[in-house]
Amino acid sequence: MFQGLSEKLQETFKRLKGKGRLKEADVNEAMREVRVALLEADVNFKVVKDFVAKVKERSIGQEVLESLSPAQFVIKIVHEEMIELMGGATGKILIAPKPPTVILLIGLQGAGKTTHAAKLANMLKKQGKHPLLVACDIYRPAAIKQLQVLGDQLEVPVFSMGQDAPVDIARASIKHANSNGQDVVIIDTAGRLHINEELMSELRDIKASVKPHEILLVVDAMTGQDAVNVAESFHKDLGLDGVILTKLDGDTRGGAALSIKAVTGCTIKFAGTGEKMDALEPFHPDRMASRILGMGDVLTLIEKAQESFDEKKAKEMEQKLRKQEFTLDDFLDQMQQMKKMGPISSILEMLPGGMGKQLKDVQIDEKDTAHLEAIIRSMTMEERRKPIVIKDSRKKRIAKGSGTSVQDVGRLLKQFEQMQKMMKQFANPGGMGMLGMGKK
Ligand code: GDP
Repeated sequence: MFQGLSEKLQETFKRLKGKGRLKEADVNEAMREVRVALLEADVNFKVVKDFVAKVKERSIGQEVLESLSPAQFVIKIVHEEMIELMGGATGKILIAPKPPTVILLIGLQGAGKTTHAAKLANMLKKQGKHPLLVACDIYRPAAIKQLQVLGDQLEVPVFSMGQDAPVDIARASIKHANSNGQDVVIIDTAGRLHINEELMSELRDIKASVKPHEILLVVDAMTGQDAVNVAESFHKDLGLDGVILTKLDGDTRGGAALSIKAVTGCTIKFAGTGEKMDALEPFHPDRMASRILGMGDVLTLIEKAQESFDEKKAKEMEQKLRKQEFTLDDFLDQMQQMKKMGPISSILEMLPGGMGKQLKDVQIDEKDTAHLEAIIRSMTMEERRKPIVIKDSRKKRIAKGSGTSVQDVGRLLKQFEQMQKMMKQFANPGGMGMLGMGKK
């Protein structure tokens, strides 16, 4: 996501690299480019204007912090201002004190309402809730069926009354939830191709009759400024509690993500990142800003790692990294853990630019860990701890012992060396080294 914008911004910041102090002319030049990049990304015109003005004001004439290069200093300000732009999201559903919590999903046709009703149900179910999906999209012939299929797949009940009036279905579903112990009701409503009075009045009626705790607007990120306009209209008419920004996985520009909050005042609560049921993320402005700036999404990566890593092991590993005692045994362990985190390619995507590229050269063959394991197992303890002692004759012995070639052993050692280098960067608390823009 956001590749287009991200690449342009990184180009701009690269050019700032090496400048001694921040001069007005340099900042102005960089901000001209940032402005163009944001406009091309379909960020709202006024948002861009305010944004650039703020960054300029904070950058020009400022004493650059000792620990940062001028480029990093500007990136830091841009990063902070981007967080501010998208800020305030909680990524949570507010659970009502008295069940059921009623969530109304609204939006235009094709935005992803039905899909996200199911994704939300899936998420809430995992959190120990008992959701009920409600089929109020009576106009699109396949919508009820689609919701039922998804409900079956997730083992979440679906409430439907065919083509009855949506307001009646919604009202009846609350009663149904009450008498069946369902504590969250998620209502999937009908969309239209465009906003019109018929749609709004239908939604106003449902709102009045079920008094939802959360009215969430589902909008397609790929529609850029249209998504922002849609959000503005719905918010004025119905009062939104939040936005679910869908299809972020296909959004190379980022205009909607960056403008919705600033233009409408509504926070983006969730982001849809794929068609699968688990492709729903709480929207984290700080992580989005990092992604847009090509800093990678280190936080998401760490969270993912925590999900699949054994906590005790992770602590041990961290200690080792800090003391730089990372051995080949640990390397093997890491590879196996990383495999559990999902395809290596998807992990690489989340790493900051420089690091991702470095790792790409490492080319971890996902099928090949058995091979690696055999090589490492053929080493002595000393060799595993201090691979530097492995010269030609030892390489031959290890290759023979593991049924591989000297080249295979050499390759593994090289990979290990690169991984060690990368780990050192990871362990460096400054973190900014990851941008590949050393202090000048
Ligand atoms: P509705 O008319 O608003 O109910 O929209 P649907 O839920 O039927 O979604 C329309 C299409 O968008 C479907 O083909 C979905 O699979 C797809 N879709 C929904 N959300 C996402 C998303 O986050 N990423 C991607 N890639 N596709 C999505």
